[in-house]
This record gives sequence, structure tokens and C-alpha cells, in this order.
Amino acid sequence: MKNRNLLQNIVVLAVVAVICVVTGRIYLGQLQNDVFYTGNPNITNVLKLSDYNPNLKGTYNDVEIYEFDSGVPGGKALIYGGTHTNEVGSMLNAVTYLENVKCEEGTLYIMVHANNSGYSHTQPLLGQANTMTFDLPDGTTRSFRIGTRISNPVHQWPDPNYHLNTSNRELKHEEIAEIRNLNRNHPGVEDGYLTEATCWAIYNFIQTEGIDFIYDGHEAGAESVTLVNTLVVHENAMPLGSTAVMNCVINNLPLKMEISGQTSYGLSHRGLGDNTDALCTLFETCNPAMGSYHDKMTEELFKEGVSGNYLAMHRAGLFPNSSDFDESGWPIEKRTAYHMSMSAEIINAFDTMYPDKPLKISGLPDAQDMIANGLESTLKSLA
Ligand SMILES: [Zn+2]
Repeated sequence: MKNRNLLQNIVVLAVVAVICVVTGRIYLGQLQNDVFYTGNPNITNVLKLSDYNPNLKGTYNDVEIYEFDSGVPGGKALIYGGTHTNEVGSMLNAVTYLENVKCEEGTLYIMVHANNSGYSHTQPLLGQANTMTFDLPDGTTRSFRIGTRISNPVHQWPDPNYHLNTSNRELKHEEIAEIRNLNRNHPGVEDGYLTEATCWAIYNFIQTEGIDFIYDGHEAGAESVTLVNTLVVHENAMPLGSTAVMNCVINNLPLKMEISGQTSYGLSHRGLGDNTDALCTLFETCNPAMGSYHDKMTEELFKEGVSGNYLAMHRAGLFPNSSDFDESGWPIEKRTAYHMSMSAEIINAFDTMYPDKPLKISGLPDAQDMIANGLESTLKSLA
């Protein structure tokens, strides 16, 4: 009898050990930073957020800002993704710029993982895919982590009971976890919580480098009638944003514009728009893996964007005036192409509207080719 219990206990402990090893490897793997292609010869400097807030040195959020200095004085812009790390279209837009762009006049700055901490975990209990992989023509693959919209509690814990942030947003009750949301704490606090300190680094980068405009890439669920395919701009950026959106519409991209809410406290277009001279813009594409009615959160859903749930609800007329939704869904190459086209049109509009601050780029892939052939055709091989 005694021996049988011993055997059972050993079996249970062995099973627990196997589960710990398997899940531990997944957990530790998620903490490993993605490898980016940085062989673009047009990169002129690699800065870090800790250059603008030393409190980030040695932290998970001390991320790179890639500089593309044309050598011709002119406008300066920051294009970034990864504020919310499950909004993969914005991150892959920044990757596309990093790998391909050349700045012909002025200076462009690219940041891929604005809140790197968010990539190191997924939201509990959702069974969400944590990576997306692309098979390249040379037989190699490129993988990118998928995270969640807030910083990892491993990096920032505990959340306070109450917090009034620097942009006047009151965080309390069920909203308190937003203290780990990069897009609720602008312009941030130099020695504050990790997420606030990251916000402050971006604020100080804008001030120090004299950035003329920013483009903060996002995605939203398919029920977000007002957000999807919409450029949100601070009131100071209305002429710039409306010119860029109009040019997109002329080119048959069904995009629209919205003005930043006066009480959108802590969001980049409000918190940075009010506190810096930069013209602040934020763009959202449709990600069917987000929203309240998402299907099973597989890698395929993030990549293909085909959602039975949202298709049925759109056909039932539940989201009038929202973005188109049909059997073809919203694939990642289309969402990335929309981000690329929108941000490139803002650059073009800025160059036209501010002739004393020229800003010209070249080298981006053709948006229609990207949509037709997928990101497999545009991502660079790491081999
Ligand atoms: Zn977002």
C-alpha cells in the first residue's frame, strides 16, 4: 500500500515537472526580444529610449529608435508601432519602414516596439496565439511575438489603488490596470512607473530632437465603428491629417479622420499633442482578433483576419456605418499596407505644407504588391 502511494506521488510529481518545463520554456521564450532586420544601409544611427530617460536603462523598455538622417536639413518625424502589442499591423508597418525606407530630405525616426514589455506576455485566459510566423521565399522564416495591450506585471507591479496621471486621466477601480497602458499615460513621468517613464522618454525625445509630427500606429476590433480605418489627430494636426486622408481617399483607400477628444487624457494625440509642438496623429486598422466578439485567437486569425463571428454580426446589421467586413476579412498584409499608405501620405502632406521643412522618403514597397503577394514577399530574410 505504502509503495503504491509512493509510485502515484512520483508519477504526479513527474507530470507536474513536465508541465513546468514545457510552460516555462514558452514563458521564457516570450521574454526573448524579437530579432529585426537592421541591414538597411540607410539607417544612420541607433538611439535608445534611455538616451532620453536614463531611468529606462537596464529595463525591458529601453528600446531602439532607428534614425534615418538624409543629411539634408528639413522636417523630422517619428513613426512607431507597438504601443499596444496585440495590434500587429502597426508593428509590421514600423518593420517595413525599418527594412526598406530611405530618407531623401529631412530626418525620419522609426520605433518598432514602443512598449516592449507588452510583447512579453499575453492576456490571461484568452488562449491567445503568442507569435506569428512568415515563410519567406528563400526557405527561412520571420517570427514576431504577439503580446497584449498593457505592460507585463512582471516588469511593473503592483498597480496602485488610485492614480492621477500627468494628462489628467484618473485611474481607479476597474481602470487601474491602465497604469500599464502606454496610450493612457502620456506625457508621462520621468521617474514614474515603467510605462509612465517610457511615455516620458518619448515626450523628451520629441522635445530634444524637435520632432515635427508623430504617427502612432494601432488596430481596433471590427465593431469599432468610429475607430477602424480612421486617423485621429490633435486639433493642431487637422490640416496635416485632413490633407493626408483626402489624398488616401483620392487613391481609393476608404479612410477617414476624427479629432482627438478634449478628454482623451493620456492618449498620444492628446497627451503629447497638448504638451509638445509635434503634430500628433494616430491611425487604426481593423484587427478581427480584437474586440469583444473575436473568434478563437489563433495565429491564423491575427494573420488572415477572417472572422466568422464578425462576418455574421456585420451581415445581421449590428454595426451600421462600420468598416467593410466580408469573407475575405482583414488580412495582415492589407492592414500593414493601409498603415504604410497612411503614414507615407502624412509624410507627403507635411513636405507639401511646410516647404521650409522638406521631408521626403523613398524605398517603401508598393502597397498593392504587398496586398497581392503578402508580407512574405516584402519581409527581409535574416539569413
Ligand atoms: Zn491601440
